Amino acid sequence: MIPIAVPNLSGREREYLNQCIDTEFVSSVGPFVDRFEKMAGELSGGVHAIATSSGTTALHAALVGAGVEPGDLVVLPTYTFIASANAINQCGATPWLVDVSAESWTLDADLVAAAFREEVERIDGAARHLPTGRRIGAIMPVYTMGTPADMDAIASVAETYGIPVVADGAAAMGATYKGRPLGRMGAIATGVSFNGNKTFTCGSGGVILTPDATLARKLKHLTTTAREPGRYRHDVAGFNYRMSNLEAAVGCAQLEQFESFLARKRKIADRYSRIASRNDIPARAFPSPDWARHSWWFSGLVLDQGIDTSAVIDVLRKAGIGALPFWEPMHLQPPYADAPRYLNGVSEDLAPRVLVLPNSTSLSDADLDKVEAAVVAALQRSSN
Ligand SMILES: *Cc1c(COP(=O)(O)O)cnc(C)c1O
Repeated sequence: MIPIAVPNLSGREREYLNQCIDTEFVSSVGPFVDRFEKMAGELSGGVHAIATSSGTTALHAALVGAGVEPGDLVVLPTYTFIASANAINQCGATPWLVDVSAESWTLDADLVAAAFREEVERIDGAARHLPTGRRIGAIMPVYTMGTPADMDAIASVAETYGIPVVADGAAAMGATYKGRPLGRMGAIATGVSFNGNKTFTCGSGGVILTPDATLARKLKHLTTTAREPGRYRHDVAGFNYRMSNLEAAVGCAQLEQFESFLARKRKIADRYSRIASRNDIPARAFPSPDWARHSWWFSGLVLDQGIDTSAVIDVLRKAGIGALPFWEPMHLQPPYADAPRYLNGVSEDLAPRVLVLPNSTSLSDADLDKVEAAVVAALQRSSN
């Protein structure tokens, strides 16, 4: 079976892990953690970077650091991975689920603006959601599969209402928005994941990127049990969200391959776009809005209406090709069934038709040929 996404550990991962063992720096203090933070920050626009235990914990800490409080609402695209909603939930807040645009699969900035015009008012300096009476604590765009949202348009709504923007850039290392790198797209803080299925992995891990030095200090403090240096005194109830030196060692070796991994991801995505452009294939490519250069974390095809996605997946798997459906919208998930929403139908139309295909950076050209042949055979068959 050609898998969907496996880590590519062909660099100096083993050498760096051996260094951790030889030096006995295996836990949350060690030279690789500092080096990883430096590399991640430099690759993202020369911003501050705080290493964390996962993408989810990066997002949770970023939201708390940006001032989200229990009882708040946080604007979130309904088309996302559940970790984005869970990070909001862990703040004691609730996602306000807004739909995505069909052209980008990211938070629809026009719809956000309409939702605010209709349902939000500034009262005593706070933005209040009138139907629930709750304060809006933040707007959290998600860079879907590595495609940045239209951040200038979102920032303009956020500024009007005095709300911070915290981004879920979990899979977006290497993406740019209007030429700006990941840490400088307009969010005060951006959470990134280094989970095993992401383009760059630490095994498990994450990073928070921020251009703001004061917030960076606060986030480092919050994620390391809020401990005062040299003593066991903690000024707030913080989190143990640290990354270990072992994970950071792997992460450093991964980030050394930044350009080559991104180039490979792009090549894979280009192949799937080429398949989608064939007249005999009832599918489209994943979107590519002109404001963004994506990082192409995952790619594949969007099947036309009326094609049975799970039947196509079965045929592909029988042919030895990994294939998966993708995210189901948050408003259809049991934990968020009661969350307030402002939808336009795009996510519900889109979600059942997304087909994710093999994406590993270690995928060879011969593997891609095999995937292409199987996809063409499966889709020609299903349209008969
Ligand atoms: C992967 C992912 C996460 C979660 O990251 P973890 O490191 O697995 O906690 C969050 N949001 C999005 C959009 C993701 O793709």
